[in-house]
Amino acid sequence: MIRFLISFLILTNWTSSADFKGEVNVYSHRHYEIDKKIFERFTEKTEIKVNVVKANADQLIKRLEIEGQNSPADVLITVDAGRLFRAKQKGLLQPIESKILNENIPAHLRDPEGYWHGLSMRARVIAYSKDRVDPRELSTYEDLTDKKWQGRILVRSSQNIYNQSLLASMIASKGPEKAKDWAQGIVANLARKPKGNDRDQIKAIAAGIGDVAIVNTYYIGKMLNSENPAERRVAKMVDLFFPNQNGRGTHINVSGAGVTAHAAHKKHAVKFLEYLVSEEAQKLFAEANYEYPVGQDVERGSLVRSWGDFKADDINLSLLGQHNRQAVEIFDEVGWR
Ligand code: FE
Repeated sequence: MIRFLISFLILTNWTSSADFKGEVNVYSHRHYEIDKKIFERFTEKTEIKVNVVKANADQLIKRLEIEGQNSPADVLITVDAGRLFRAKQKGLLQPIESKILNENIPAHLRDPEGYWHGLSMRARVIAYSKDRVDPRELSTYEDLTDKKWQGRILVRSSQNIYNQSLLASMIASKGPEKAKDWAQGIVANLARKPKGNDRDQIKAIAAGIGDVAIVNTYYIGKMLNSENPAERRVAKMVDLFFPNQNGRGTHINVSGAGVTAHAAHKKHAVKFLEYLVSEEAQKLFAEANYEYPVGQDVERGSLVRSWGDFKADDINLSLLGQHNRQAVEIFDEVGWR
């Protein structure tokens, strides 16, 4: 807690706003240089100053909970609809009615009640060894439970929200029993006990520990563009496969934002979110993390474009939050730790 307070004070840049028409206080999990540019551009256009506090996603939610009504935050930016749903459930966000947000964000990528709004999209795909896997062998998430994948699958722990949301998407579309069968089947085919993050699964493919991994698309982008040559080399040894193209589509998720429940600068916060879904901001916001813009007509970055078009599962992402608890229970039951 002390450490968190210190980092909060260091990162906060609450200065006099005399030169501005107003300000907006943003809690963000993002730490990209480009964000500074996006926020500056917003300030140029609106004369609203943007103050940012950066911390990891769960810390920001905890922070908002502790601060309650006294929170200086107006906007929360975080990743995964499951987590955004959690922030809504905890009463940390408020509903926003905005034509601009509704027009620029497809309906399935935002909360039906307007509590949170998707800002960039990622897919949870299958990364496979270029040497040892023929992509024609790949088809669906479900197929990964086939015997042919025994001892070959890599995936991170079920503690992580990304896997919880993936399983929640299966509960939503196929029911809890089929979802449980799937989780059980994956556990039976694992190359090793789940450990590490998504990047570590890709590294384990390169090390020959397993052949296929379930990972978020942008990690490949990050590794291909890493300053660490070893990461770049490893990333080149795998390719991405978008599963379930002939069915419900590949599981996707968002980074997103909401206006906080006690926002003192609500009007500015809404303006800020509306700016983030503008074509100009969308392009930069998504590209910084090798993600897909949520705006339909916004140009994708070149690497993301190179992965090709794909069919995305278009269930409303609030369902990921609704089925989260059951997903966690299933993981527990089948021993996916
Ligand atoms: Fe991530």
